[in-house]
Amino acid sequence: MTKTPILQFENVNLRYSETEILKNINLEIADGEHCAILGPNGSGKSTLIKLISSELYPSIVKEHSQRKILGEDGWNIAELRRHIGIVTNDLHNSFSVDGGNLTGLETVMSGFFGTLGLFPHQIIENDYEPKAKLALERLGIARLETQKIGTMSTGELRKCLVARALVHPVRAILLDEPTVGLDIKAQLDFIEMMRALANGGTTIILITHHIEEVFEEISKVLLIKNGRIFAQGAKQEVLNATNLSQVFDVNLSLSHKNGRYSIEVN
Ligand code: ADP
Ligand code: MG
Repeated sequence: MTKTPILQFENVNLRYSETEILKNINLEIADGEHCAILGPNGSGKSTLIKLISSELYPSIVKEHSQRKILGEDGWNIAELRRHIGIVTNDLHNSFSVDGGNLTGLETVMSGFFGTLGLFPHQIIENDYEPKAKLALERLGIARLETQKIGTMSTGELRKCLVARALVHPVRAILLDEPTVGLDIKAQLDFIEMMRALANGGTTIILITHHIEEVFEEISKVLLIKNGRIFAQGAKQEVLNATNLSQVFDVNLSLSHKNGRYSIEVN
């Protein structure tokens, strides 16, 4: 039996007050269809994530439009995060600024509540701690269990936040520019972690402007420019120098070696 698609967006529009930010978004992501969303700064990638996370709702349009997530249109944020994990830089910054004293384990366990850390009124079920430890192990960061956020590297905290999203048996995980601030080794390491998740059956939706992060398991690519989908489809068809040059407004060449894409400015 085929599983319900992760996303089905048809003619979705979004405006902040009077400014149209996303225009006529048509997008379907099937279960297991690992997808990269690429576009320049300000093109609307994070806004698209907020539409998916149900932090924002589409503007009403006259024509037919739909926004379904896992086959349903009405979601509250708390319920949705049991099915789709989301890691953004806003989340990273919140933990980094206000969560310095939390341990890795506390950070991950707070995923059960969607809060920034644990609070006395919260009822911690018996399975929360073992599940959180399992999530840390799954990402190869069991050693961070007792380490405080304030002493973690950017890459370590980023992985803790992925583990936090994975305390639920999520079908998909959305990562908004997850390698920002990581050095080359930490970036490569993070890519390997995404690949392992992808191969383990979690659908990856990766937002980035780094073409070299489009890893092998990604089959679909969506290019976004000025709030519109510029191109979308199979990676082999969409990821080419002509499209990328137009989307990023720079004359680029693209090469693909050992499963890794790279660009060169002409
Ligand atoms: P990206 O993630 O691709 O860099 P964003 O989705 O963050 O782009 O932003 C897309 C556009 O929406 C930008 O022009 C940005 O200035 C605008 N924008 C983002 N958030 C808001 C907001 N809260 N109010 C008004 N405009 C916003
Ligand atoms: Mg963004």
